[in-house]
Amino acid sequence: MVGMKDHDTDLATRIVHHGYLPPAGFEAPQPGVYKASTVIFPSVAAMRSREWKDKSGYTYGLHGTPTTFILEERLCTLEGGLQCVLVPSGLAAIANVGLALLKPGDEVLIPDNAYGPGKDFANGELARFGITHAFYDPLDPADLAARITPATRLVWLEAPGSVSMEFPDLCEQVRICRARGVTTALDNTWGAGLAFAPFDLTGDGSLGVDISAHALTKYPSGGGDVLMGSVITRDLGLHMKIKLTHMRLGLGVGANDAEAILRALPSIGLRYRAHDEAARALALWLQQQPAIAQVLHPALEGAPGHAHWKALCGAAQGGQGAAAGLFSVIIDARYTQQQVDAFCDGLHLFKLGYSWGGPMSLVVPYTLASMRSRPSPQLKPGTLVRFSIGLEAVEDLRRDLQQSLERAFPAA
Ligand SMILES: *Cc1c(COP(=O)(O)O)cnc(C)c1O
Repeated sequence: MVGMKDHDTDLATRIVHHGYLPPAGFEAPQPGVYKASTVIFPSVAAMRSREWKDKSGYTYGLHGTPTTFILEERLCTLEGGLQCVLVPSGLAAIANVGLALLKPGDEVLIPDNAYGPGKDFANGELARFGITHAFYDPLDPADLAARITPATRLVWLEAPGSVSMEFPDLCEQVRICRARGVTTALDNTWGAGLAFAPFDLTGDGSLGVDISAHALTKYPSGGGDVLMGSVITRDLGLHMKIKLTHMRLGLGVGANDAEAILRALPSIGLRYRAHDEAARALALWLQQQPAIAQVLHPALEGAPGHAHWKALCGAAQGGQGAAAGLFSVIIDARYTQQQVDAFCDGLHLFKLGYSWGGPMSLVVPYTLASMRSRPSPQLKPGTLVRFSIGLEAVEDLRRDLQQSLERAFPAA
């Protein structure tokens, strides 16, 4: 990139040409895989003086290797952050944030449509440590504002919720928390650093979240074969709190897993766009099917929070907007759970399995009532089924949906 400045180039280009200093005389495009628990010091003096916290030196595998340092830097480039810690899963990222920032007597607020295991962590570990939590309506900023108390130390945000897909007014939520001096942590797995810039929501550098937690398991991996998470910040003090807890909990990641993510990162933009285009085509088609009461995809006109999606993500991709390859449908309430289960079982290309972001399309039926503290008036009655759209040919996926819809829900 001689003669080109960073701001001249697109994110896609910057991720491919991201700075990397290979060992002398070995200039390969991909960074090397460095594996270590032990790192050798040249002297006792070096052992005593070498600092691991600011990454100025290597001390122990748990504190970082050349492989994990370069992955951290590239993830910062992807999300627009300055500091990063890597953890063994997306859920570990959520736990790391909570354990680093909360103490007995504090409260954390969580959107009612948040990632379920994160709620379980609040119900389990945080509650046991005397940290309370409450759920707020993701589509009602006034409800969030009303729930902030002097004990509120952290507010989780998710745009959109990854099962029912309501897209919140993220800017307004962050403004409310900022005005009250409350730290914001976004679960940025859906946006992945591509649909919007979590640390620069308005594009003028004036508004951003404090923390972005990301399940790298999904799009950064892209393979359905790696578990990893990251916690990214733009504030050194906040980062050090997270990093010290991370160190004391012993949360390391394996070099081969880090390498798998490094290998997949250059294609993340292409993959994200392909998943998005296929998902939108299928979501639109499903909207026309008589058994479907509602399609929950934030880029679809009329979907819960569509206007907020449009405001935040609508300018990306030449005005088409950007969205992940994830959406849900609500099967009309006239059909039984058994029929919905038969529909999921009857799909051939869509496999039954958790997670998303990989090449294979997945389907999961959810029992929404058991996942929410109160019913959402935005969601039609019926049974929710979530699809993660992979990289198969769209027409093959459409035909698979059609054959199973016809069998499970014969026209009355
Ligand atoms: C998958 C997921 C997580 C957790 O990631 P794991 O690596 O599976 O622990 C967290 N948040 C969201 C929104 C997710 O989809």
